[in-house]
Amino acid sequence: MEPINPDQTYDIVDSEGTLVEEAAPQPETVLPKLTRGEIGKLRKQYITVQHPRVIGCKHRLDLKRQPTHRNCHKCWFAWFQNNKEVVATADEVFKNGHFELIVKLQGHKFYNYFTRFMGTVERLQQMQEQQRQQGQQEQQTEQVSQESNG
Ligand SMILES: [Zn+2]
Repeated sequence: MEPINPDQTYDIVDSEGTLVEEAAPQPETVLPKLTRGEIGKLRKQYITVQHPRVIGCKHRLDLKRQPTHRNCHKCWFAWFQNNKEVVATADEVFKNGHFELIVKLQGHKFYNYFTRFMGTVERLQQMQEQQRQQGQQEQQTEQVSQESNG
């Protein structure tokens, strides 16, 4: 038995077999004719895994593996940014005081760039916090001056 297609319409005939209503024509599926080059292009687009390039250094980055450009700070930074789980795990291990475990599991390079990355993240967070506090202070002084005016 054929699966029921809800979009399929049927010719409606009366008891004498006279056509009452004609079924809507099925939309034809038109497959575009592709040239060899176009097929190759599509294959590249959809099948070949193209690793994204890091904006700062134009290196290709495989997010599933540690950066191939072992000494490229930008690659590592982008890699950490896109491997939040790895970072979170390493951070937990680090905070528990087992930094040697990170080195053992991920290597020295990872450890070095990881601590640098975390330092940068911390600095950014501090800056954001400062800006937030400054914003609050400005709001407060604004409120005070409005109150004294009124
Ligand atoms: Zn790089």
